Amino acid sequence: MKQSEYFKILKLTKRSLEEYKNWGETEIYKAPITRNPIEKSILKKERQKTFTTTTKVMNSNEELRQLEEQVNSCQKCPLGKNRLNAVFGVGSSNTDLMFVGEGPGYDEDHKGEPFIGRAGQLLTKIIEAMGKTRETVYIANIVKCHPMIDPSNPEKRANDRPPTQEEMEVCRHYLDMQLDIIKPKIIVTLGASSTKGLLNNGESISEIRGAVKEYNGIKLMPTYHPAALLRNPSLKKFVWEDMKKIMRFLETGKI
Ligand code: SF4
Repeated sequence: MKQSEYFKILKLTKRSLEEYKNWGETEIYKAPITRNPIEKSILKKERQKTFTTTTKVMNSNEELRQLEEQVNSCQKCPLGKNRLNAVFGVGSSNTDLMFVGEGPGYDEDHKGEPFIGRAGQLLTKIIEAMGKTRETVYIANIVKCHPMIDPSNPEKRANDRPPTQEEMEVCRHYLDMQLDIIKPKIIVTLGASSTKGLLNNGESISEIRGAVKEYNGIKLMPTYHPAALLRNPSLKKFVWEDMKKIMRFLETGKI
């Protein structure tokens, strides 16, 4: 530092101190709280943990952002041709719980966000009843583009259809990469299609719901799709039973 700069800082400091004195201040410095070695070690570990988590979240967010860019320009199957928006997924990259549906519908295609129509609003209520929010879990679909009965008209209502097994197989690697980045402790598949898309099982959703399965080393529990609950509200109690199991698992690690 040049001598002139040093004197300038000194002059400014002196002026500040004089001003403090004029305001009646008698103390300008407090010694830091002294901590014993155990407290210091705990604090150090906590800071390290926070730093590691923050770094992991930043890296995961960036990895998801890059993957989303790939999905937005993907044309690997015919669904990409007529979509209005690819629907990548929303939520936290640092969550233990991931909900997976089959594919976007009309509303999702228009907005580029999963589960925002009537069924999506019901899913949001279920998530909130679990004491969570859409921001603290992760929500995605197996296929990222809108499967339509009449693909020539994305503006047509009642034009949704479930994705075919082939479409799910082509698109599923994006979901696999999302799972690899987020590393949830448990996946909840919503409905028969997404369950079949991940487990390739032959059981009906009423037989398999609530059972604990595994996908790529991650626990997986199938439950009814929220759209099924809108059609048949008597199924709600089964979904709630499943969600209670999930909450217990997230709290205790036991299922
Ligand atoms: S559905 Fe999946 S694989 Fe097909 S175009 Fe969309 S992002 Fe690509």
